[in-house]
Amino acid sequence: METGVLEVTDLVVRYGRATALDGVSLELAPGEMVALVGPNGAGKSTLVDTLSGIVAPAAGRVVLRGRLAQVPEGRQLFAELSVADNLALGAWRSGRGRAGRDPARVFEVLPDLRPLAGRLAGTLSGGEQQMVAVGRALMADPDILAVDELSLGLAPRVVADLARHLRELNAERDTTVLLIEQNARLAFDLCRRAYVLESGRITASGPCVQLAESPQVARAYFGGT
Ligand code: ATP
Repeated sequence: METGVLEVTDLVVRYGRATALDGVSLELAPGEMVALVGPNGAGKSTLVDTLSGIVAPAAGRVVLRGRLAQVPEGRQLFAELSVADNLALGAWRSGRGRAGRDPARVFEVLPDLRPLAGRLAGTLSGGEQQMVAVGRALMADPDILAVDELSLGLAPRVVADLARHLRELNAERDTTVLLIEQNARLAFDLCRRAYVLESGRITASGPCVQLAESPQVARAYFGGT
């Protein structure tokens, strides 16, 4: 594999005496779209928070070659602010004195956001809010986008629409995507390669077509088939 845009090596994260990540290693090549699947409490959000620098690791190494932006679990928008203001905060949060991305460029990727720009975020549907959360992350002009639970609480049709946008973003704009999902079916559908995280450890990894056929993964994620 060529030099990774993201390299995580033997990462250990503890909350007090509890170990949330126990020696996690993974690597993403530029332009890849890779899934990280795992059940509730496996440590998925902890991993993203560590990549973003929100959580400090007890051991291990994270190498980021480029800028990472996170679409956080639960969207975490400012309900009382307009969509445009929520987007603007994405550029501000990217820091580093850069102007960030023009919302017009985000609307090119997510055209359905444009007519919503003046609406208060709190009045939008769940799917629309998730699109704002993706747009806000894009305002930081990231090289890597980490999307935490894209599908959570959303109708299948809405998820399919968001997934199409992510696929375009990855294929046409070369943004590397780490898709963190409890919904392995969706993740395997979107990505070529995946890691399985269970109880803070990577228990399987490889091409999604192979993982989906492994009895261990099938039992856990595809209802015993
Ligand atoms: P979910 O899908 O439910 O968010 P997850 O795979 O993202 O699950 P994490 O949220 O990363 O998992 O949690 C991993 C483990 O760390 C869990 O046992 C959780 O209870 C614990 N944990 C997470 N955040 C904290 C915290 N701030 N303090 C203490 N323990 C925590």
